[in-house]
Amino acid sequence: MTEELFREDAALTECEAIVVSAGVEGIVLDRTVFYPLGGGQAGDSGELVGAGGTRIAIVDTRKHKELAGAILHLPAPDSDLAALQPGTRVTARIDAVRRRAHMRFHTATHLLCALVPHPVDGCSITAGYARLDFHMAEPLDKEQLSTGIARLVNESHPVRHRWISEDELDANPQLVRSMSVQPPRGLGRVRVLEIDGVDLQPCGGTHVANTSDVGRVIVTKIEKKSAMTRRVVLGFADQAR
Ligand SMILES: [Zn+2]
Repeated sequence: MTEELFREDAALTECEAIVVSAGVEGIVLDRTVFYPLGGGQAGDSGELVGAGGTRIAIVDTRKHKELAGAILHLPAPDSDLAALQPGTRVTARIDAVRRRAHMRFHTATHLLCALVPHPVDGCSITAGYARLDFHMAEPLDKEQLSTGIARLVNESHPVRHRWISEDELDANPQLVRSMSVQPPRGLGRVRVLEIDGVDLQPCGGTHVANTSDVGRVIVTKIEKKSAMTRRVVLGFADQAR
């Protein structure tokens, strides 16, 4: 089981860790700041730096399919993993610029959820864009949503997470907005993300600490994917044409 430092502190960009195992399928550490692909959010990339200065580039991060609770750091193809014997100390460092983009977009998708009161049936968060599919038939207005996001960003709402019991979640089914991603069960507790006065829902992803940190995010496209699906695509204002 890998200790998930990113769940408690999304601002961490590096940590010291010990190699548990290393192979072509990936590297497992005892603890990590690398977020594994999940809940729509892309996995982190970065590097593992050994005591002698050896660097292994990490191109993606996934949850281990067989080993519950273990996180796989995927090395770049043809990496020499000889220096990563079990028990070796390394510094795990994420690509902080890429992660920052994930955090800004991820928090922006929560703002979008607050503006569009319909169930979500798909979500993808990358460093270049984010998209959210809403289960609804009504049309959506691009400018209106961009203005709504800018308002919530300017209002500087604190963003924080806390843990609630599964019983508490069951007693409040309206908390679960997503049709496609159910919160993980069986641990006795569920992580919820709260944006003060704006949004509250189970979420395991990484977010900025205040909506003001989302910055200038706009709706770049709205697509009708099916009779009952409206896809909203978000982009950074300074990158959008
Ligand atoms: Zn979230």
